[in-house]
Amino acid sequence: MQQKLPIEIDPFRLAKSGLELEGSLALPSMPRLSGLLLENTGEVSIKMNFDTDVLGTPMMQGVFTAPVSLMCERCSMPMTYDLKVECLLGLIKIETQVEGLAEQYEPWIIEGDDPIRLSAVVEDELILALPLIPKHAHACLPKEAWSSGEEIEESESEEKVSPFAVLAALKKD
Ligand SMILES: [Zn+2]
Repeated sequence: MQQKLPIEIDPFRLAKSGLELEGSLALPSMPRLSGLLLENTGEVSIKMNFDTDVLGTPMMQGVFTAPVSLMCERCSMPMTYDLKVECLLGLIKIETQVEGLAEQYEPWIIEGDDPIRLSAVVEDELILALPLIPKHAHACLPKEAWSSGEEIEESESEEKVSPFAVLAALKKD
């Protein structure tokens, strides 16, 4: 189910109303994130659940997922990484309120009354979740598998010398 996400949001108001937002954004709309990737294509799925907890803290529970293209640090070949963020943010107006926030929350500091760009908070969380050293989850393909067709043909022609021919040559000696 696709739903158009608002470009700008007032997180405090959403938390007061207990609203849920769900939809997707194109990866190119997040230039700081896409600049760190091999390919600037694809979509980010976004789920945001705004609410107020029992203590009255406005909060946002978010799940953001995006298959992104990174370079494997082990074999230097491209790989698709399923980037996924599950965050629980406590909404505060000024940095000094961070200490008052219950410890399950990451602080989301929203200064001033200007609306917030929805993509910016999603982008920040996704950048933080990027692996420091991306590696293929299982084994990397052996380097030989990536060599050019020409090289593969060469090794095939070498194999065409049958072991029997080699034996026959040895016997002649
Ligand atoms: Zn690899």
